[in-house]
Amino acid sequence: MNIRTISALCPLVLTLFLAPRPAAASEGKLNVVFLDLCSTRADHFGTYGYPKNTTPNMDAAGKSGVVFENALSEGSWCLPSYASLLTGHVPEVHGQYTSLPARKLPDFETTLAQMLKTKGYKTALFSGGVYLLPEWGLSKGFDSYVDLFSTSTPNRIPAPFKDNFDQILSWMKQNKGQDQPFFLFAAIDDLHVPYHVDAKDDYDTGYQGVARDTDVFSVPFARAYNGEPSGYPEYMKEKVKEFKSDPKHLKHFIARYDAALHQVDGKIGEFLKAMKDMGLDQNTLLVISADHGEMLGEKGKLNHTEGLYEPVLHVPLIIRHPEFADRAGSRVKAQVQRIDLMPTILDFADVPYSGLELQGKSLLPLLQDPQAPWREYAFARSKRNLARLTDLNIDERVVRTSCWKLHHYLYKSAYELYDICSDPLEASDVSRTHPAEVSRLSFELLKNMEFSRPHQPGLPSGAKKALLEPQPPKD
Ligand SMILES: [Zn+2]
Repeated sequence: MNIRTISALCPLVLTLFLAPRPAAASEGKLNVVFLDLCSTRADHFGTYGYPKNTTPNMDAAGKSGVVFENALSEGSWCLPSYASLLTGHVPEVHGQYTSLPARKLPDFETTLAQMLKTKGYKTALFSGGVYLLPEWGLSKGFDSYVDLFSTSTPNRIPAPFKDNFDQILSWMKQNKGQDQPFFLFAAIDDLHVPYHVDAKDDYDTGYQGVARDTDVFSVPFARAYNGEPSGYPEYMKEKVKEFKSDPKHLKHFIARYDAALHQVDGKIGEFLKAMKDMGLDQNTLLVISADHGEMLGEKGKLNHTEGLYEPVLHVPLIIRHPEFADRAGSRVKAQVQRIDLMPTILDFADVPYSGLELQGKSLLPLLQDPQAPWREYAFARSKRNLARLTDLNIDERVVRTSCWKLHHYLYKSAYELYDICSDPLEASDVSRTHPAEVSRLSFELLKNMEFSRPHQPGLPSGAKKALLEPQPPKD
């Protein structure tokens, strides 16, 4: 831990850090384990209030760590979210904003793994999904990089966590207790369609119908269900019609999502037990989060191909640090974003990062004091996971406060406003009855867009400043 960094954050935090702390089991050698679940919405976790017992193991991890109640993704789907997490920059800067045209991570970006390597970390990433294939460039800085997604298989579905499980444990076993600490990033794809689950009847026994059909658990089905103009075969429309004819089909669809969440939670429980058995819970920072959530019928949408509604943006975030045992069970209400995680992890690993111009804020002050002053506004944007290049003009922006959320659809000059304290699933648009809020929040959105647009990223601050400042006449 770097006291200079902390004192720059806030004097109260410095006071807290100078107070007696527990024995530093991890002094100079803190491992980092990051479990990142794809398509996993916060409100289906027990710890976020879901009535079914879907996530007992991750809930228990939350009780031994800190739960962030308002963690938001930077966008609605995998690639921009992974890139923002691993670079600390918003999608407008790293440029991995759309799937078409495909853009490799630009050379000017430095990843979290590269930064941790400067401190001697051994680094590994395991995934089963398409958007962490090495071709996207997010593999920079990882010593070991395994992605089981196969572009050659006909189904092209993400591989579940269990397929990577044994090699993850064996990598961890090899690298524990060495002179160097390690950073392990596991992207867990079980909650991406087709929702990997063995017992498909969990939570909805006896169901028969179209939601038994493999086609229904696919991205093309979701595009057809959502009314998108392309990205699916014509026959899918008939299946959508049948699916929408009786609410029991959507009920079963959601039950299968919950069953998959429950099943992967069991595997995560096994993983956390293995960590404990290896003695790693004493010197390892554990982060559990999700790249984005999933629409399950709200607003007439499935999946996460479009939209920035709460089921897609609001993600789980649990942070457990061995030296913060006295904070176990605390809950943070402040709005945090995934770009905040890179500076947080670098602070814990004592890696300086001032030259990177990161756009998030370290969460250390909130981990010290859940009531610490924090940002008022959070932002997200979406250009969709596009099915065709002609959709490139689709652009949606969101600004969110503790109770208000404004959506701005730039491509159709439309706004929606929701009071998310009384209407957390954004059922009633109140933009017409609250014009003052629309005006105030749209101004904040405009300021943020100006700040985050592409701006010769990668230039040192001095060079960037010189570009922005008026230059004196030549003679
Ligand atoms: Zn994802």
